[in-house]
Amino acid sequence: MPAKTLTSLLPPLSNDEQVAVTKLHSLAGKLLDDIVTDRPFRAPHHTAGRATLIGGETYPRPGEISLAHLGVLFLDEIPEYPHSILESLRQPIEDKKIAVSRANSHVEYPADFMLVGTVNPCPCGYYGDATRECSCAATQIMAYQKRLSGPMLDRIDLIVSVSRVPNDTLLTTNLQTNIQQLAAKSIITIATENNLTDTRVVRNTTIISQTAILKQS
Ligand SMILES: [Zn+2]
Repeated sequence: MPAKTLTSLLPPLSNDEQVAVTKLHSLAGKLLDDIVTDRPFRAPHHTAGRATLIGGETYPRPGEISLAHLGVLFLDEIPEYPHSILESLRQPIEDKKIAVSRANSHVEYPADFMLVGTVNPCPCGYYGDATRECSCAATQIMAYQKRLSGPMLDRIDLIVSVSRVPNDTLLTTNLQTNIQQLAAKSIITIATENNLTDTRVVRNTTIISQTAILKQS
């Protein structure tokens, strides 16, 4: 849920951006009643195939990374995604576009998304937890943490470690959270209006958090 709120913190889509996002959704075969005005939030499951995520099928449709163009691509528990798919994200993260090829066609789609992902500290999720003991072997933990390659980690700008938060605390801090979100949104709006922020920088920021808090919300 915290990842999903990110789109509301980003600047609104310009008219040209709305047209670009709508075209991509239409090309992917989505039934649209109207033009897309909100920044996309796409959360493909780790069982989704390469064609679904990157693009392809019988003829080269835009994949989830292109449907997330100008918005957020959320990968929950990144290590669960096939290594080959994670590695194929490196090029579009760098180039902000993806070339989709099939037997007799070659298409290039935009893929300028903010990648947001979560990762557990270990397979059972309790390594380092103060309230519950981790049941994983050291070799399991090392193998799990190695699933994200060095080059992929190099492309991640921001890594945030999140501790488990008791449910009672979550329920009583809603008001403060809302105030903080409004304050953050205000800062972004002011910066955008004054051209102080390059929106590409905002969009390209990548966040990986441990899932403890994200799974509870
Ligand atoms: Zn564990």
